[in-house]
Formats: sequence, structure tokens, C-alpha cells
Amino acid sequence: MTDAVSRQLFERAQQVVPGGVNSPVRAFRAVGGTPRFIASAHGPYLVDADGNELVDLVCSWGPMILGHAHPEVIAAVRDAAGRGTSYGAPTQAEVELAEAIVERTPVEQVRLVNSGTEATMSVLRLARAATGRDLVVKFAGCYHGHVDALLASAGSGVATLSDAAALATPASPGVPAATTAQTLVLPYNDRAAVTAAFAEHGERIACLVTEAAPGNMGVIEPGVEDGEHFNAFLARTCREHGALFVSDEVMTGFRVSRQGQYGRDGVEPDLMTFGKVMGGGFPAAAFGGRAELMQLLSPVGSVYQAGTLSGNPVASAAGATTLRLLDDDVYTRLDRSADVLRSAVAEVFTEVGLPHVVQSAGSMFSVFFTPADVDRVPDYATAQRQDTAAHAAFFHAMLDAGVYLPPSAYEAWFLSTAHDDVALSRIVEALPAAARSAA
Ligand code: PLP
Repeated sequence: MTDAVSRQLFERAQQVVPGGVNSPVRAFRAVGGTPRFIASAHGPYLVDADGNELVDLVCSWGPMILGHAHPEVIAAVRDAAGRGTSYGAPTQAEVELAEAIVERTPVEQVRLVNSGTEATMSVLRLARAATGRDLVVKFAGCYHGHVDALLASAGSGVATLSDAAALATPASPGVPAATTAQTLVLPYNDRAAVTAAFAEHGERIACLVTEAAPGNMGVIEPGVEDGEHFNAFLARTCREHGALFVSDEVMTGFRVSRQGQYGRDGVEPDLMTFGKVMGGGFPAAAFGGRAELMQLLSPVGSVYQAGTLSGNPVASAAGATTLRLLDDDVYTRLDRSADVLRSAVAEVFTEVGLPHVVQSAGSMFSVFFTPADVDRVPDYATAQRQDTAAHAAFFHAMLDAGVYLPPSAYEAWFLSTAHDDVALSRIVEALPAAARSAA
């Protein structure tokens, strides 16, 4: 399989774009080699600039749940674009997209924005305004976009959280320490750490924001203790301390069920964020919550938030069409396909003696290259015990066999409704040789 054209394009790209990419993980830094430049896509396949057809398990990092170039989505986009691409004035399309989100989730109102980052950034402002408090709690390994306040490194848990130690350190140069000083970072699935943080700082905490079911440190399953789901525990703890519970469903929303993670655990957050699937492959995202909170936003209230392209008519048409096509049957089929792949991976890895853990939330799942003594990955610290060299070897062997996986050991694999038996067989057939090359 040649990648000569991708190499040439990567050379050119690096001259004019930092690292040659417009979002870092695309650059193959974690696995080495040259990223594939994509020329087109259809159904479950990407076609790269050299003409190689690859079965796609990235699905644009989640959005392409119907596969690429779905005829009904493309028809809606063509129709919308033919009538003009942006007006900076309200449209029926954005009302339909907002209604589709409100109908599926506990939120009463949404504001449409352009990216998940914008959604979480806006939701923090709203939560702080609503509570009159400044502190924000997040979990290590959860990603909420490149919002300053949420680009905070992992603290080592509440045991060491004196007031000074609680000030999380920025995860990127350029993020002011004063900003992350308002952020507490706790280990995921660690109820004692959450309880201790709220006991110490509860009166100053505006909100706790969590991925509804984390997928950005690999897929981590929220634990259930004494019959209580982790999200229910978080919602209860927030309520007890007058803080808001914010569920980030940018990745899980409309992906893990018709109602997202909310459809799986039934926990009602105060505020939610959405993105990815709801944009149908276009830049669209949203945040929402109870009307009384959302009414604090300008122009009704005084919390300012705005966007030139927000609720863009083409993006709204793609998103609303995508959501319309996602009925409950779709998720049954997606979960079945995910089962096929998860079992195949587990079987093949076990056969070749490659230690691993597979964890999932519906049709997004992760294969962790963890050591043999790990049988569950509950948090970021455990996810970091992965053999990233083994992952890289596996990744490249799969790519050579025509399967495009996320180029990082900390990402979810995503399936679409277009992954039919032919596409799934191509993946399954590639597994044994790739697993052997990583073992
Ligand atoms: N929140 C979650 C859970 C995400 O997975 C992401 C992106 O991967 C974001 C927020 C940020 O979204 P965007 O990349 O659209 O800014």
C-alpha cells in the first residue's frame, strides 16, 4: 500500500500549518509515520489521497454514525446550501435541530454553537453565573475541548488537596495558572475523592463537569456501587452542595443510545453539552438545561454568549436529518456490530497472548493495551499503564491491512450503521496478524 501522495501533502502541510494538521491527534505523533490525507469517503470507508480504501473506525472521532456521505444527509445539505449558506438571522432549520435535541434529552432549552469546546466553555460561564461561585470540578483524563479552565492536569487526588495543592496546574503553556487555579481535578470513579473535595470546597464549587461516559482516556465505564450509578452519585453530591451537575455528552450524545448516555443511566443533569453526532459531520454543537438556567443567557438574561455562524442552516440541516434517521433500531444494530468486533478482538488477543482490556459504551469502545494484572480500567492512571509501543505496532499493522484506527491508545473506536458484514469481516480478518505483530 503506497502513501506517496499523503507524504507529499504532509510535507506541504507542515510548511503552512503547525505539525501539518489542524487538530493535534491527527498527526500520528503517538504512533509514528505519516498521517493519511483523505480524498473522499463513502459508507464505512475512507479513500486516501493515494487511492487506498480503508475501513474507518474513527468516524471523524464520532460524528459519522450513519457512515460517510449518507444519501439523505447529503440531499439535505445540498438543498440547504442551494438556498444560501449563512444568514446571521434565525431559521427554521435551527429550530428543528433544537427541538430534536430537547425531545430526546432532559434539557428544556438549548443554545446552538459551533464546537464542543464552545459548548463547554459557555456552560461553565452559565454555571458560574447561576451559582455565583467560581470553582469547577473535573476528572483527570476527561477532555472537554480546549477550554482554558478545563485544560488542567491531573491532581493526585483529594488526599493532597490543601487549598494550595488544589490549584490544578495548566496542561498547556498559554493557559493562565490563575484560570486552572479555579479547577479541581479528581480521579474518575473515585467517590471518596469527590466526597472529600466537596467537603472541603463545596461552598465554592459552581459545577462539576464530567464526560457522561468518558471516551477521551479510552472508554471508561462509570462504576455502580450499592446500586448507585457514578453519575447518580455525582448528581446527588452536587445537589447536596448547591453545585450544578454538568454532563458533557459531546461524544456520547445520540451515539450510545437515541438519548445518549442519559438514555442508559437516566440521571438528569442540570446542564448538558452536545456535539459530534448532532452536527451530522458539520461544525455544530449545543449546550442546554432547565429553562430557568438557560433564561439567564443573553438576550433574556445578562450572561453573554454569541456566535456569527451559530445555528448555521447547512449544519442544522445535516444535524436534524442525522438525528431523524437515528431510531432505536439503529442502536440495536450498532451495539450488535460492536459486540462482534469486541469479541473478535478479545478472542484474537487472548490467542496470541496479548494482555488487554476491552471497555465500551454502546458502539464506542476501546482496546487497552494494559499489563496482564489489569482486568478493568476505571481511571486515567490505569489507562496510562498501557504499552503504547504495542498499540503503535498494532495500529500500523491494521493500517497496512486497510483498517483505519484512532492513532492513539487513548481514544475510542467508533462504528457506524454503514459498517456492514463486509466491512466488519475486513476488520476481523486483519486482527490476527496485527495482534501477533504487537505481542
Ligand atoms: N467534550 C468531549 C467529551 C469531547 O470528546 C470533545 C472532543 O472530542 C469536546 C468536548 C470538544 O469538542 P470539539 O472538538 O468539537 O471542540
